[in-house]
Amino acid sequence: MIDACAQEKKPLSSITEALARIATAIESVTETERVSLKNALGRVLAEPLYSVINSPFDRNSAMDGYAFSSTDLIPEQEVTLTQIGYSWAGQPFQGKLQAGQCVRIFTGAVLPAEADSVVMQEQAQINESLISFPAQTKGKQHIREIGEDIKQGDLVCAAYKKITAIDLGLLASTGIDSVVVKRKVKIAFFSTGNELTALDQALESGKIYDSNRYLLSGLLTDPCYQITDLGVIADDPQQLEDCIVAAAKNHDLIISTGGASVGDADFIKEVLARCGKVDFWKIAIKPGKPLAFGKINDCHFFGLPGNPVAVIVTFQHIVAPALEQLSGMSMSQPLQLLAKCTTTLKKSIGRQEYQRGILSQNDNGELLVASSGQQGSNILSAAGAANCYIVLPIECDGIQPGETVRIELINNIVSSIISH
Ligand code: AMP
Ligand code: MG
Repeated sequence: MIDACAQEKKPLSSITEALARIATAIESVTETERVSLKNALGRVLAEPLYSVINSPFDRNSAMDGYAFSSTDLIPEQEVTLTQIGYSWAGQPFQGKLQAGQCVRIFTGAVLPAEADSVVMQEQAQINESLISFPAQTKGKQHIREIGEDIKQGDLVCAAYKKITAIDLGLLASTGIDSVVVKRKVKIAFFSTGNELTALDQALESGKIYDSNRYLLSGLLTDPCYQITDLGVIADDPQQLEDCIVAAAKNHDLIISTGGASVGDADFIKEVLARCGKVDFWKIAIKPGKPLAFGKINDCHFFGLPGNPVAVIVTFQHIVAPALEQLSGMSMSQPLQLLAKCTTTLKKSIGRQEYQRGILSQNDNGELLVASSGQQGSNILSAAGAANCYIVLPIECDGIQPGETVRIELINNIVSSIISH
């Protein structure tokens, strides 16, 4: 049995220390699989990808217009050329251009070998097959050169990158139709607490609905994760141990919520100490101080607090970076911006707080932030109303309206900024 009081007296770890310990404790999954490009969105690339072609593949036109040779231009004079054919996108002109000739060309169509210039159709005067360009027409314009986007042999996507929609387009542009990615991380999660009630049951006095499992299933929805919902486990050491030991056999990570503190019904760390090992317990953040990190054989374990807002904050700041590393990426740091706070924020010195805020932007582009409401770690409604965290450092003892604060966008969704 762990001595809860002795644990209490240990100094709190900072979030930076906690992440550093996680970084050394967690290694990426090593297995890989090949997936078609269509199924690659959000997966982590396991190898660098180089282009086997030049893109563009051919010299082609950036405009609808007329392709010609710049040697036909006469300085300060209008030029009239004879149109001898067409170059369509996908259907190049087959002939040879002679001096004084041009071809009708469309965007993306291959430039005839003898042409080096395109004049926009809006600039051309058409008189049957005679095409005139104004005196100020410049040569060597509106051309896309071979390989100007990507050269053969260029790195298209670096290894260990999470594939974005733009990457899908980029990879497709070089003809790559499948990629080798890290296998999905297998994650099991459960809630613990005798008070937890399933959503299809009526609430009895003293009971609450289990919000955390729904919260976690949302937070864990990612193409890189394969998740298993283990349901609700009672506050019972044996049941918890059985659940954890079984799940550890075929998962890379187990996440629990509740029972990780030092109350009499909090068994997570005791059980973890019995069937595996525990790395740390208390982090100087609010909400989210009680947090267990450990390992059962090869399976990592996070014991998150029970209060739902503490689950969100610890997940996003501690579990999510750990999952990045486990999935094969490097840990990212949340982007922090400065905003003017428009409300009073209460805070005591001692822990870094992630208060929930509403970020907006005024007509001058200035970022303004206000508290989103009650800051208790059980207050899900104010978390739901928030679009950012207001990050208050350990030594801060409160904020007055007008002071500048650091904010982090929740989920980095920039579009969630509300305009006044
Ligand atoms: P604990 O860490 O188990 O002491 O729980 C702290 C608080 O979070 C208590 O008020 C619990 O009732 C609440 N809690 C624990 N688990 C959940 C859950 N799955 N959903 C919502 N609230 C929870
Ligand atoms: Mg509990």
